[in-house]
Amino acid sequence: MKERTLTIIKPDAVEAGAIGQIIDRLITEGFTILGMKMLRMSKKQAEAFYEVHRERPFYPSLTDYMSSGPIVVIALERENAIQHLRQVMGATDPSQAEPGTIRAKFGTNIERNAIHGSDAPETAARELAFFFTDYELIGNHNP
Ligand code: UDP
Ligand code: MG
Repeated sequence: MKERTLTIIKPDAVEAGAIGQIIDRLITEGFTILGMKMLRMSKKQAEAFYEVHRERPFYPSLTDYMSSGPIVVIALERENAIQHLRQVMGATDPSQAEPGTIRAKFGTNIERNAIHGSDAPETAARELAFFFTDYELIGNHNP
């Protein structure tokens, strides 16, 4: 069954000029783009997006980084989209990521790791709704 997930091209990858290469890879991997925008999150928005990590030691630095520059948020659809995106992204720490994965190619360190991907159906739904209203996604009813 087709499934949706959210990806974010993070500030380091945008800064590095990798937007095109990452989108090209996602399309090659069979993902369909249902919605896409470039924006810069405020610190407060980054804190809300990563709410689940609030108690983690890396939370202040992560939310500074994620609000430090433009990002590209993309709603994706594919069979098994959530798991497949996680596979194509690679491990959180780019030095541990499988060769050829997006994080292995474009990530710098465990924080500045180029790309985000939702980790489960519930988080994908929450994260898609965080950035997109229903009618902004292709295929949804336009009121
Ligand atoms: N992160 C970090 N230090 C860590 C673990 C994670 O800075 O020790 C950052 C990193 O940018 C990561 C994000 O926090 O992508 C969310 O962490 P999570 O464990 O959810 O990893 P992901 O699902 O992105 O692989
Ligand atoms: Mg995660």
